Amino acid sequence: MKTKLVKRHWCDFCNKAGLQAHSMAKHEKHCTLNPARDCRVCGLLGGSMHVGAERMAELVAMLPDPAEYLATPCWSDHEDNPQRRLLAALELAMPKLREEVSNCPACILAALRQKKIPVPMVDSFDYKDEMQSVFNSLNEQRNLDGYY
Ligand SMILES: [Zn+2]
Ligand SMILES: [Zn+2]
Repeated sequence: MKTKLVKRHWCDFCNKAGLQAHSMAKHEKHCTLNPARDCRVCGLLGGSMHVGAERMAELVAMLPDPAEYLATPCWSDHEDNPQRRLLAALELAMPKLREEVSNCPACILAALRQKKIPVPMVDSFDYKDEMQSVFNSLNEQRNLDGYY
């Protein structure tokens, strides 16, 4: 019988796990839930990979706070429904955020996740789709999974 103990490493920010410490450290540095992350996708797009805590906080501040809208849940279909108001505020904020990050899908995803906004809620943003067009425009085939 052979027994082997393996170490697993978990990201401090999301629940991703891996067997290799160095690759998890690399993931953590760019994890979209890391408030001081750097951005590999910005690097791919020809910009600076450096984001950091200060800039990340600025991006998060551009989005409406879901807690403010959803503090008093009301699921009626009334026009003044808080969820609808949140969606409207989001769609208003998205173009400014896009401009600020030069349309980098990973930075948009990071800002939404760090603001605790459920990403599928945002109709005008599809991470997979937008990452695919980044890769298409770079004419490269890459594994999307590494960019979550
Ligand atoms: Zn992570
Ligand atoms: Zn980016």
